[in-house]
Amino acid sequence: MDTQLAIIGGGPAGYTAAFLAADLGMSVTLVDREPHLGGVCLLRGCIPSKALLHVAKAKSEAARLADWGVTFGAANLDLDAMRARKQRVIQTLTAGLKQLSVRRKVRVVRARATFEDSHTLHLEPAGSEPPEDDRLRFEHCILATGSEPAKIPLLDLPTDRVMNSTAALELPEVPESMLVVGGGYIGLEMGTIYAALGSRVSVVEMTGGLLPGVDRNLVKPLYKKLQSDFETIYLNTKVAAMADRNGAIEVVLEGDAKDGPRQFSRVLVAVGRRPNSADLRLEKTRVEVDERGVVVVNPRRRTADPHILAIGDVSGEPMLAHKAAHEGKVAVKALVGQPAEFAPRAIPAVVFTDPEIAWAGLTETEAKAQNRDVDVAQFPWAASGRARAVGRTDGTTKWLIDRASGRVVGCGIVGPGAGELIGEAVVAIEMGAAPRDLANAIHPHPTLSETLSSAADVHLGTATDLYRPKRI
Ligand code: NAD
Repeated sequence: MDTQLAIIGGGPAGYTAAFLAADLGMSVTLVDREPHLGGVCLLRGCIPSKALLHVAKAKSEAARLADWGVTFGAANLDLDAMRARKQRVIQTLTAGLKQLSVRRKVRVVRARATFEDSHTLHLEPAGSEPPEDDRLRFEHCILATGSEPAKIPLLDLPTDRVMNSTAALELPEVPESMLVVGGGYIGLEMGTIYAALGSRVSVVEMTGGLLPGVDRNLVKPLYKKLQSDFETIYLNTKVAAMADRNGAIEVVLEGDAKDGPRQFSRVLVAVGRRPNSADLRLEKTRVEVDERGVVVVNPRRRTADPHILAIGDVSGEPMLAHKAAHEGKVAVKALVGQPAEFAPRAIPAVVFTDPEIAWAGLTETEAKAQNRDVDVAQFPWAASGRARAVGRTDGTTKWLIDRASGRVVGCGIVGPGAGELIGEAVVAIEMGAAPRDLANAIHPHPTLSETLSSAADVHLGTATDLYRPKRI
């Protein structure tokens, strides 16, 4: 088989690149070992987790209505129905991708691809039907092989009671108790789901705080909420030993935790992800990888091999689907000779917990580390009419403004819906907006989006919903 562009990996990076390349007139072959397109994000990541987080949110919103004098009986959980509903979401989306690839005449091949040289892939069968040829010759190739959960040998027990995110998303049961190892994105989102379904959830995080790297004032309201939703949050703590004993997992903790060995019905390990670059036989090409297995690329997504580009998780942090898809577009534009490079001012990140945390551009933590001269303007949601109306005054919206240029360079939001609100911040930062632009743009009342213009007003000294006049 021959193709102009071979793409390895059918996740958000790979299918975005494939579809744009086909639209721009290239002949494209997309190779993936899975029976369906969508990658980790769609099949066992972002999408199924958000489907289950929707259930968790609806359930906790219902419980909050007690404040308003509305109470419901105990929830009746039908896990089979929940799994089937989640599966339907995945099936509809993956069927949509299949249709889009057929319409575009993108050839999709189910196979495991390895390199023979800088112009040839070897294709091994990945399902019951072998590919029509075991060799694919290409003019250009884009690596979009994604990442997989990192493993810690100590925690790698041969029992299904110790799960990674993939297994946890299958919702095998609602365990009586669950230990989440790793207080990052996955640990906290999955912990939120299982706690809402009724498990007693504990988290063990090796650093001194949840979500390391995220601004502490954004994490604080989430930490407070999780202290009541979760059983225990262990910080500065690691798992020293773990064993499968009589149908439970016994865990020995070391660090700040003072508890003796504890038993959990299940353990979820979520300690980061590693790029999928090891099994591609990249040594047959000129592609270079760093010590963590990340494929090294330039801003036009080119590797050290002139015929091979790389996008998405395999090419490094942050491992986020929207960043991956954007890189896919940049790579294809670079291939067809259009001016393009991956140089965003702001990549949004969202942790879909309750409250949500979202940020884009420069964070306060980074600003301090880099000694950047910024003003931080915050608007507490306690002063928002909408936040009051829905009983969620635990939020905060803040802008980071570069003092030299007078432009917004970062934004951080904590509160329900933060993930939707951050989109405006991305546009503002990318377009080089000044606080005045945000303050002068009339935001709809009563919405949480007003907190973005109000935080800009705080910087300007024109916030009227707070008493914080600028001293002149
Ligand atoms: P992560 O890097 O977000 O968090 C891992 C956490 O585990 C860190 O807090 C780390 O300090 C801790 N840790 C590492 N080793 C440990 C140990 N031995 N004991 C205790 N704690 C330990 O990684 P993740 O949560 O596995 O998620 C992986 C990636 O997937 C993220 O980097 C993110 O890019 C992506 N993701 C994104 C979203 C989203 O956008 N909402 C959701 C899920 C995952």
